[in-house]
Amino acid sequence: MIPSLLAKDTIVALATAAGHGAIAIIRLSGPEAISIVQEVFKGKNLQKQPSHTLHFGTIRDEDKILDEVVVSLFKAPASYTKEDVVEVSCHGSPYITEQLLKLFLRKGARLAEPGEFTKRAFLNGQFDLAQAEAVADLIASDSALTHQVAMKQMRGGFSAEIKALRAQLIHFASMIELELDFSEEDVEFADRSALRRLIAQLQKLISDLLQSFEMGNVLKNGVPTVIAGKPNAGKSTLLNALLNEEKAIVSDIPGTTRDVIEDEAMMGGLRFRFIDTAGLRDTQDTVEAIGVARTKEQLKKAALVLYLFDVTTSTPEELEAEIAALHVGNIPVLFLGNKKDLATPEQLARFTSLENLVLLSASTKVGLEELKQTLLDQVHANEAITGDRTIVTNLRHFQGLQKTADALQEVLQGLDSGLTGDWLAADIRRALFYLGEITGEITTDDLLDNIFTKFCIGK
Ligand code: GDP
Repeated sequence: MIPSLLAKDTIVALATAAGHGAIAIIRLSGPEAISIVQEVFKGKNLQKQPSHTLHFGTIRDEDKILDEVVVSLFKAPASYTKEDVVEVSCHGSPYITEQLLKLFLRKGARLAEPGEFTKRAFLNGQFDLAQAEAVADLIASDSALTHQVAMKQMRGGFSAEIKALRAQLIHFASMIELELDFSEEDVEFADRSALRRLIAQLQKLISDLLQSFEMGNVLKNGVPTVIAGKPNAGKSTLLNALLNEEKAIVSDIPGTTRDVIEDEAMMGGLRFRFIDTAGLRDTQDTVEAIGVARTKEQLKKAALVLYLFDVTTSTPEELEAEIAALHVGNIPVLFLGNKKDLATPEQLARFTSLENLVLLSASTKVGLEELKQTLLDQVHANEAITGDRTIVTNLRHFQGLQKTADALQEVLQGLDSGLTGDWLAADIRRALFYLGEITGEITTDDLLDNIFTKFCIGK
């Protein structure tokens, strides 16, 4: 940490959500944080109090008492930002918080930019960039699994491993560069086979992380699940049943075409994004009726297909033809035999040989619990979720890892073709650059702005 990087100004923001609440917290960070609060605080002399203590008192604007508050003191470097931090817990009224904010601004604080507290924490060496980004993910997490992934990354995740391997790679780069100084003498300081081993290690780590990204995406954005089937099979009824049951966050997802409905529901800590292929009611042709073209389009984004059919009118042969027409490829299909309530035992028996079948009645909700369990089992069968693996959820990390992998591949090719040290060193430096960007050992202002402006103010 270069001391001159420490911010000279003191920032302030509301740290809790806007609106009414039992309490609200206003946070200040920077060299003047304590003195600014002290100026308007009537209670103990905060300057003289030890770090990590709480103090009751009033905040006054001249003679007017604005609120009774509790002030928490965190003295540098033992704070989130590693600067002096003061948190003022006041009553949760938007009027009070506005008055207090204005008062602190008048006394010399500046309104924090989005993510500025976390940006300062990063710049002051509290954590690396990937961990800082995980703070935003943690705040955004809304299910057991997204929470688990973000928490793991915030507490270190893959950073430590990447940093250790990067340090070794730096060692090789320097050794190879040293050889260049002795180029007349034809010496090799850098052990080429050890370099290969290190690259193999890095490639393994990176390819595991790259693979985890698909799962990371599913966790973050929901398991894209297409509900397909002929008109009147009961698709809308099923979707409604699934959504209502779970008191779902029903949302219009922007960017979806008008004839496709997307809704989200949480089940067992996992988000499912249901894509209903609606608007397919105007044709009588059996196969065309399932909206082959449109459904195929949706299938491109699907991780799972729920194929719904009416058990009272369908036959297994028809189902086979319908599914074949969709060309689902490797995407798992779950067959849902609907309208069980209307079916005779003989009708139901026709489908017993079908694998991945759930019989249910969407309108009476019989079999819905079994369906939900089956859905969860499908996803949990993927050990990336249940296992202890690190999962990459961040697109920036994914792209950085991809570029690193490419650069490493070029180092290997260079070694194979006996490339000279200067070329090798250039490819290694490139790999180092991309790795460094992930954890923030290498940063640019643009990169930081890009990351932290996506945070909320006060974080
Ligand atoms: P979609 O065209 O596939 O979306 O089908 P809908 O959800 O609109 O359902 C078509 C008709 O079947 C509606 O009248 C529903 O009430 C009825 N329906 C759906 N599921 C069931 C079920 O499990 N049992 C019975 N008896 N009727 C159902």
